[in-house]
Amino acid sequence: MMWEKVIQKEVCSLCGKSSLLFEKYGDVTLCKICALKMRTANWKKEDFHNNGEVEEQKEKVLRIAEKNKASDAMIQGLDQYFESKKIEGLINILDGGVGQRLALYETYGVLETSSGFDYEEAQERFCNILAGRRGKKLISKDLRKVADSPLGNPAVQGLITSMIPGGKLASVARIGANAVCHAISSSQSNASGAVVMPVHPGEMKFDYIAYDALLCYEPIGEEEFGFLLMQDGQYEDGTHNLVFFFERSASVLKEVAQARQFIEEKLLSRKKGAMHATPVGVIDEMKQYKELLDMGVLTQEEFEKLKKRMLNL
Ligand SMILES: [Zn+2]
Repeated sequence: MMWEKVIQKEVCSLCGKSSLLFEKYGDVTLCKICALKMRTANWKKEDFHNNGEVEEQKEKVLRIAEKNKASDAMIQGLDQYFESKKIEGLINILDGGVGQRLALYETYGVLETSSGFDYEEAQERFCNILAGRRGKKLISKDLRKVADSPLGNPAVQGLITSMIPGGKLASVARIGANAVCHAISSSQSNASGAVVMPVHPGEMKFDYIAYDALLCYEPIGEEEFGFLLMQDGQYEDGTHNLVFFFERSASVLKEVAQARQFIEEKLLSRKKGAMHATPVGVIDEMKQYKELLDMGVLTQEEFEKLKKRMLNL
């Protein structure tokens, strides 16, 4: 069988000449020469991170089209092409630079983890930070050795005890593993009890309101990466937490700060809603904490902390 190559000529929307080499932008066809004339720095970019970027690009391109005396039909065609690139409800797609992307929409988020994500390294960094050993290399042997030792860093201690009762480092390691793993897929244990994590790249859609708190670990000292940790307090073992890793670069850190503010506002509005919905539940729970305080189970300091958390102070 002979293969016959069909060569089709198309008419350029700008110069009106027919050409063999052309580019399509929706209903707009441009010959190679006109396409080069029209091209701005990001002209070919498909992978827009937010609707503002699309709008900016559209305006640039339309200005060039007008300068080149494009027809009304072509202007309209280009306008439609860029409008079709906008995604409803999209706030921003944040590329962490280490194999994960965090897409924030008005009502939900999507965590994308690619096959390029180094799970082993992420787990190690995650454990390091939670264990108050920031910037230091931590191997699994060390983890076991210090599994029962108290953790030095008070801020980290607070985080850990809020995640798991007791706050032992071994559990922290497991939480780190689970949290990262959950972001990718599922975890399983082998016969010796060690956690085995198969890496399955993929996307995870999540609701902001499913989480109780957002913690941000910006890279400090020698650290190259940081992470955002979203906590689901319903599962104390951390299996339903969500972790997004990002690299240390000025542009990424700026976007992380914006994402953090956006998510925190979502969590706050959820808490406010919950407070209005169940004022009786809050008071009941406070009464129980007060009883525990009177019984000497809770210290005054612990009680004050719980009270603050209950009242969102
Ligand atoms: Zn042309």
